Amino acid sequence: MQNMDTKTLHPAVAAAYRVLENGEPISLEEALLLASLPGELSLDLASLANKVRNRWGMGGIHACSIMNAKSGVCGENCRFCAQSRHNHADIEVYPLVDEDAVLFEARSCAEHGVSHFGLVTSGYGYRTMNAEFKRILAMIDRLHKELPELNVCASIGILGPETAAALARHGIGHYNINLQVAPEKYADLIADTHGIEERKETVRLLRQEGVNVCCGGIIGVGESMADRVAMLFALRDLDVSVIPINVLVPIEGTPLADADPVPLADIVKVFALARLVHPRATIKFAAGRETIMKDFQGLLMLSGADGYLTGGYLTTRGREVADDHRFARRLASFS
Ligand code: SF4
Repeated sequence: MQNMDTKTLHPAVAAAYRVLENGEPISLEEALLLASLPGELSLDLASLANKVRNRWGMGGIHACSIMNAKSGVCGENCRFCAQSRHNHADIEVYPLVDEDAVLFEARSCAEHGVSHFGLVTSGYGYRTMNAEFKRILAMIDRLHKELPELNVCASIGILGPETAAALARHGIGHYNINLQVAPEKYADLIADTHGIEERKETVRLLRQEGVNVCCGGIIGVGESMADRVAMLFALRDLDVSVIPINVLVPIEGTPLADADPVPLADIVKVFALARLVHPRATIKFAAGRETIMKDFQGLLMLSGADGYLTGGYLTTRGREVADDHRFARRLASFS
């Protein structure tokens, strides 16, 4: 066991060290037991997750930047989201931007050394081809042509067979669509204007087409620790390669504006468990890194994460890419 003396560790953490040896994920029962450990043991779990990332992860830091290419007036009722027209957040609203605006943002992303650029649109999604979806395909083609070194990703909602196949043909890098929470809690905790099955089906369609999927969840919407574990295991069944974990940024005008903050030790445990359930995946720290985690964002990057969202986020403030480059260089000494 890597010359590691695990005798002083809690037996459940010591047992989980076998992931470091064989790269095999922990079981659901083990995850639930680890999730129930007291906060003071969360750093033991984080330490193991950091080692598992170093040994079995993809190596390096996966940084990506996103652009909100269409904002607001969404008919869905996601409780955390500023862009839902069921909520009353004060945000900028605009229809799908033009190609030049996307190219400008993508070029800035590439010039700052960020390898993945994600095009994001508000709304239910595109189950079938329509004029707007074709405009998005044209944007993707233009980005490939003008910035061939950039991975062009998309997060444009629920897809059908025809639109999933079209994105695969147009060479999408990763497609992001999140489960958000444990599937059985989706209607209660996230939205009931659409169903979790539509999201899972979108992932399946994309995987059938060979598209890499970025799919994760959000912490802080009223879920329990067991729900978080259930979400991590639901992701295993979907064969996703990148797992973004968001920490809720409560936004005024949404039903979660006054949500209780999740204890830091629990957030550390979720990141560490994500690594132990998905030893080889990219675990990405998405929303909430600077605004909610503030001084502790580095701690989460040392709890098994190996990626983050950089630059502006959708409707909340992000971090300067240059600051994040420095951040990544300093974190490297823990690898
Ligand atoms: S998360 Fe997406 S689908 Fe849900 S309300 Fe916001 S923009 Fe609409």
